[in-house]
Amino acid sequence: MSVETERWKEKYLRLLEQQEQIEQRWEQRVDLLRRSLVRSSMAVEGADPAVENCLRQMREVLRDGDFDDGLSTLVPRLEKAVLDSDRQRQERTRHLIEALHGLVNPLLAMSPPADVRRRLKRFARKLEQRIGRARELPALLGELGELQRQALGAPLVADNPGGGFLRRLFAGRESVALDAEDSTPVSAPPVAAEVPPQADQAQADQSTPLSAYELEGDVPSSDAPAGDCEPALADSPEPPYSQVAERIEAALRGLVGSLRLGEAQQARAEALHERIRHGLNWYELVPVLDDLASLLLAASDQDQREFESYLKTLSERLVTMQQNLYAAHDGHAEARRTAEALDHELREQVDVLQSSMREATDLASLKRVVEARLDGLLHTVGEYQQQRSQHEQALGARLQELVGRVGSLEQAAQGLRGHLEEQRQKALLDGLTGLPNRTAWNERLALEAARWERYGGELLLAVVDVDHFKRINDSYGHLAGDRVLKIIGGELRKRLRATDFIARFGGEEFVLLLPSTAPEAGLQVLEALRSGIDVCPFHFKGERVQITVSAGMSAFAAGDTPEQVFERADLALYRAKDAGRNRVERG
Ligand code: GH3
Ligand code: MG
Ligand code: MG
Repeated sequence: MSVETERWKEKYLRLLEQQEQIEQRWEQRVDLLRRSLVRSSMAVEGADPAVENCLRQMREVLRDGDFDDGLSTLVPRLEKAVLDSDRQRQERTRHLIEALHGLVNPLLAMSPPADVRRRLKRFARKLEQRIGRARELPALLGELGELQRQALGAPLVADNPGGGFLRRLFAGRESVALDAEDSTPVSAPPVAAEVPPQADQAQADQSTPLSAYELEGDVPSSDAPAGDCEPALADSPEPPYSQVAERIEAALRGLVGSLRLGEAQQARAEALHERIRHGLNWYELVPVLDDLASLLLAASDQDQREFESYLKTLSERLVTMQQNLYAAHDGHAEARRTAEALDHELREQVDVLQSSMREATDLASLKRVVEARLDGLLHTVGEYQQQRSQHEQALGARLQELVGRVGSLEQAAQGLRGHLEEQRQKALLDGLTGLPNRTAWNERLALEAARWERYGGELLLAVVDVDHFKRINDSYGHLAGDRVLKIIGGELRKRLRATDFIARFGGEEFVLLLPSTAPEAGLQVLEALRSGIDVCPFHFKGERVQITVSAGMSAFAAGDTPEQVFERADLALYRAKDAGRNRVERG
């Protein structure tokens, strides 16, 4: 054996050995991976029935070793199940947050002592962040329970002695509760003295173009004049519901108006709308809410039914399409059979022709035989062509039908997509101000933070809060308060750049993201927003009403999470409040 051959042989053996080692390592890794998958799938047991079902099947596939086929069909199903489960979890969290806000807000409205109020507000603000961690839930509920106990157990203010929970829940406006931050009696705000609220004011025209922002018209209803002392709860079977009636009615009317109902439910919705429009009292509220709840169920049923009926039509059309395809396939097979028969027939005729030619003794009889055979051949070909063109026509018609069906399917799917997108957009907007809401804020914050982390640069976060907003509600009514929020939202937005983002965080708080902005420039922007609101010509019954905002701002710095930056901006806002309001602080 030559040296060269010896060298190649050695090389081959070495490579073979390496290959064996690689295969061995690969086997070990696959085994490790298989075991890790089995273990981790066991670890998430109980998370969700659909996910669990997929994982169980995955374990079976892993144990049987039928990797390729089994996993390639299972993994997409598992992905879908995980996505669905995650969506449901988010939905549950959202409901939980809403429910907890629903518990906190009435406590805040009862004007609890300053420290309880501050802690309640902090609790509400942190809810979204904390509720994401499942183990926080018991602690959250414990805290809320404690706050509730303190808010309800706090002694009543001196001139409101006989009240209980309901009394304080509904009598926020008359109570001389102290403002949480500055101990100014809410019953006598500076503007209220000059501008007493009018009792029987008509609804304001919200769409009037305004050089000065008129707030009148959005005042509480006639049975709740400011300063009137409601009788004690013990003397009256009806709590002073009238103070909030107008606001509740407006909200309920809005809710009924926004429902998408079928024809059958429409009449019920209109009747309910009428009942609310003619004014509710305390006793009617519960039955109206019951009816509204059943309408809400009907509305969600309606959506569900529409979707189900779309899916039904879709599957019916798919079945028809499948039948058409089978028919086309059968047609094709039939055409092949006919072509084979033609071929066979032609061959036979040609064979007969050949043998007739061989046997023919004279030209005249040969001519006759050839003509007769040719006629036969032409007839066979003609028949075949006719059959083929019939087939083609039938196929063409079927194809046309299929194209039509696909077109209408596409149209239906397009409509549904449009509807879903519309619903999604609606879900991201705040109904009152038209600004993005808190859900939209969370999405954008995550996006901008990720962009900042990836590309660097500057990113500022600010929290803007209306000063003494409670007094505005108390002095001019909640509808006027709503109008103020709407105007402030618009004023803030129009002063921002297209790349900036503003959302209503909740209540009278707005949050801002200013990308590619240095802190000094950000402070100038916020200062311009603050002074823009300061000079905004709000009017009530021809009198100027001064409304101001305070803001806290913080810049994203290396290693920051969005929550930390928010926390700093929030603390800066508190500093601005403590330092006298109508100012901007940097955190
Ligand atoms: P501060 O200057 O310390 O921020 O005082 P404030 O009165 O603005 O703050 P506080 O948190 O004590 O009160 C906020 C009030 O905003 C209480 C709540 O009734 C009111 N509010 C929250 N959301 C709305 C809303 O959508 N419309 C109206 N009209 N009022 C709202
Ligand atoms: Mg405020
Ligand atoms: Mg606030």
